Amino acid sequence: MVCIYCSGSTKVTNSRPQKRLHQVWRRRQCTQCQAIFTTNEAVDFSTSLVVRRPDGSMTPFSRDTLFVSVYRAVGHRERSVEDASALTATITAKLLHGGSEAAVSPADITQTAYETLNHFDAAAAVQYQAYHH
Ligand SMILES: [Zn+2]
Repeated sequence: MVCIYCSGSTKVTNSRPQKRLHQVWRRRQCTQCQAIFTTNEAVDFSTSLVVRRPDGSMTPFSRDTLFVSVYRAVGHRERSVEDASALTATITAKLLHGGSEAAVSPADITQTAYETLNHFDAAAAVQYQAYHH
């Protein structure tokens, strides 16, 4: 990865795996202008999980779409962004481990999200269900 300021080459000066989030956080430093910035390496779920719609068409799984719906459900919580990130990661992991076939239905996603939210915060699950009925 090149420097965001001068396009010089960068080196990794620190890295921290975030096990629950399927992400690796890295601190990088430019070898030319010495600027420091961070990157997050994350799994691209759109290539490993597809959604099979009721009409039979397939679309890539969108982590962002799931995150937005989870975030809306936990919006009443103090640490809603962190909670939504962790919950989205948990739901995605459950969907990936749900079977050998890497295709899920929209109903699978809704059901898995609801169960995960319900385990975490019953009020959030009620919120979620209100949007996905
Ligand atoms: Zn630079």
